[in-house]
Amino acid sequence: MPELPEVETVRRTLMELVAGKRIHSVTVKLPRIIQRPAEPQQFADALVGHTIQTVERRGKFLRIVLDGLVLVSHLRMEGRYGVYPSDEPVELHTHVIFHFDDGTDLRYKDVRQFGTMHIFNTGEELELPPLNKLGIEPLNDEFTVNVLRMKLEKRTTKIKPLLLNQELIVGLGNIYVDESLFLARIHPERSPGSLSQAEWKRLHEAIRSTLTRAVEAGGSSIKSYVNGQGEMGMFQHQFLVYGRKNEPCTSCGKPLHKFVVGGRGTHICTKCQPMKDTNKIKL
Ligand SMILES: [Zn+2]
Repeated sequence: MPELPEVETVRRTLMELVAGKRIHSVTVKLPRIIQRPAEPQQFADALVGHTIQTVERRGKFLRIVLDGLVLVSHLRMEGRYGVYPSDEPVELHTHVIFHFDDGTDLRYKDVRQFGTMHIFNTGEELELPPLNKLGIEPLNDEFTVNVLRMKLEKRTTKIKPLLLNQELIVGLGNIYVDESLFLARIHPERSPGSLSQAEWKRLHEAIRSTLTRAVEAGGSSIKSYVNGQGEMGMFQHQFLVYGRKNEPCTSCGKPLHKFVVGGRGTHICTKCQPMKDTNKIKL
């Protein structure tokens, strides 16, 4: 599933490709993608004549801002966008097509069919599902060490599932949580109450630096992820632990370990991320 860096890359690409374009019609080939309004035809009709102003991101959601309307799109597992000349044959698994006045189409393709689209009047989208319960943006200024600690510290869940919870912090998925916890030298099964201030600081820095580097690399291309122009992200070449089971730890050389935490495959170095809190002694 695309996480913050991949969605951010799609956002940037879409901005370049579709900002300023006016929709003259919309074809919905797979009604289940459309969540709001309930009727796909209403969805299509509502967008006609509207111009795309900008493309923003909230967590793992794209906010395609039109004049007076916002289209909220979630790519889920394998959704992707592409811009094509309208006379080019439509590829298999293309479910929604936005036809523009200039003879091009924005096409949404989704092999797994899990993606969703909602439209709202501008402003309304922040008060209603799916965006209304989203947590803090980890790359924004208000995401400080203390905010991170305050949000998580009193929870009784292990640290990894907490970091995956989109109602607390948005945008982190399995890859970037594993990478961040390794960088912060924190075992994914630690209880948040056991973390020292130094560890919260390391975790905060690790989340920011991991996401920032991944955005710079255009995200990670795992399985079928490509950005809106069919380009692959490059961050998978910088993975420290994710997908590197039995390969040597980049820090200590010990073979990396894979196990399951909260139902998710999890990669760690058992030496660099000890379960026991040895770091507290240093404080
Ligand atoms: Zn190690």
